[in-house]
Amino acid sequence: MNLQKEFERAVEEKGYRPRFVALAKKEVGTPKYVSRVIYDPHPHRNDVLMQTAPNPAAALLIKGTRSNIEVFPASFNSDIGPNNADDFLSLLADHEYFHAREIYEDPKTVIRPIWNTIRLREAPGLKKAMEIRAYDNQISNFRNHSCSLKFQLCIAAKRAELDPETAPILTFSIK
Ligand SMILES: [Zn+2]
Repeated sequence: MNLQKEFERAVEEKGYRPRFVALAKKEVGTPKYVSRVIYDPHPHRNDVLMQTAPNPAAALLIKGTRSNIEVFPASFNSDIGPNNADDFLSLLADHEYFHAREIYEDPKTVIRPIWNTIRLREAPGLKKAMEIRAYDNQISNFRNHSCSLKFQLCIAAKRAELDPETAPILTFSIK
């Protein structure tokens, strides 16, 4: 199977995207902290590529819960999302799976900040910290994929925007 060809088909054919998401999940495997990887054609915002949806039990700070990963149409739009299959895998395995692992291992680092940000309208810095950790993980794993340069720059810019002071020095991986 050529995942890049499958990705190109999913970009063209909306109806093929759930199948591609299943293939991508097969490619990276399903760790114990991920329940399902789902294609959702109806995002709440058009610029969201993917998101990690925690099990409600995680909000009670129960450890060991599995999250769902939701993949949205923007993941197939190269203007704002992945340019190739490896970009897609980087988002899925190195960013969303990273969130899912943190939620599984230590839900309070993730859930409480989200809760505070949404309900109490405070502590956005903590949610920011959670995104910074996920972007840093993604960036440090670029070398394990053949990510497009455009995508690497885009992720690096998003990371730097969150906190330029601590942004990692990049050595782009170009194959
Ligand atoms: Zn994230």
